[in-house]
Amino acid sequence: MKSETSTMKRVKMLDLSEQYKEMRKEVLETIDEVISSSQFILGKNVKKLEKDIAEFSNVSHGIGVGNGSDAIHIALQAAGVKEGDEVITTPFTFFATGGAIARTGATPVFVDIDPITFNIDAKAIEQAITDKTKAIIPVHLYGQMADMHQIKEISDKHHLVIVEDAAQAIGAACQGKKPGELGTAATYSFFPTKNLGAYGDGGMIVTSNEELAEKSRVIRVHGSKPKYYHHVLGYNSRLDELQAAVLNVKFKKLQEFSERRREKANFYSEKLTELVSDHVTVPVEKDGNYHVYHQYTIRAKSRDELKDYLKENGIDSMIYYPMPLHLQPVFEHLGYKIDEFQHTEKATVEALSLPMYPELKQEDQEYVIEKIVEFYKK
Ligand SMILES: *Cc1c(COP(=O)(O)O)cnc(C)c1O
Repeated sequence: MKSETSTMKRVKMLDLSEQYKEMRKEVLETIDEVISSSQFILGKNVKKLEKDIAEFSNVSHGIGVGNGSDAIHIALQAAGVKEGDEVITTPFTFFATGGAIARTGATPVFVDIDPITFNIDAKAIEQAITDKTKAIIPVHLYGQMADMHQIKEISDKHHLVIVEDAAQAIGAACQGKKPGELGTAATYSFFPTKNLGAYGDGGMIVTSNEELAEKSRVIRVHGSKPKYYHHVLGYNSRLDELQAAVLNVKFKKLQEFSERRREKANFYSEKLTELVSDHVTVPVEKDGNYHVYHQYTIRAKSRDELKDYLKENGIDSMIYYPMPLHLQPVFEHLGYKIDEFQHTEKATVEALSLPMYPELKQEDQEYVIEKIVEFYKK
């Protein structure tokens, strides 16, 4: 093992410092404006962001909430999902997707993924539908949308709600349709590391469904309408003005950020395909999809050893996700077993996400590629 020296190159998964340097003046000005106005909760900045993101998503409503997890939970609750219902989703996702389902009292029902895209296998959904099924949550993993046209067809046939977990996929499209256009609603997260990241927590529901929008707005303020009168049980989950103000500045750059991520992804893919295609499978962008590469995730032989080798050489990489939801201890009572979802479990031992962000330098990417090649030559 090489010893760490101060001269060793470092490549981080994500480095937000460059971006902040570019926007510092504008961000500090807008933060100052919010504080000077003393309007911290549900003011003009949240309104503006809700309007802009709804427009950007080609839907009629945006509802700013406390975080991306609550966005899923509130959208489900607003759609009427409750105890006794079943909600179908993918086990290969961040915990929040399953957690939000369970928090409504409904039962998460998992189905396997498509090994090409890592997204929920639309064909497997239909077999999991029962009389109790109320909703489907496709997760647009790593920034690529699930097969929404097929999922929409299934949901229409069985009268199901679709809540798209688009936490990783703001700006993505599937045959020209963005999250929220085909689903009943879609949810975004503004967690700092997401493609549109705040300086704290934040989230949003987007939808063209009037009733779902109205109910979500009520649920995020304790179920209160009018103020101090409560007909439904809500809670306190709002996007705050300071975060919205920051996001309004960053949102102007979102399209450019997505384009830059795509350029970095293409660079990785070209080189890795050329040099180590026997050992590494690069991400596949399905025909007609616009992938926004929240993560650039390869499948790698000897994944854990490769990860260690990169680490020794100063390169960060991440495993999203090492344990699928159906095997999480908290969901043990659901009765899923090891080997139940073959493609998902294979992905948990092969997937490796490499450094990816709009400001990532080409020389850093070249270094990452060089070390991957070196690892497989040994
Ligand atoms: C980040 C993320 C969430 C949760 O968002 P938070 O804002 O952190 O609550 C949900 N689902 C997926 C797939 C995510 O990546």
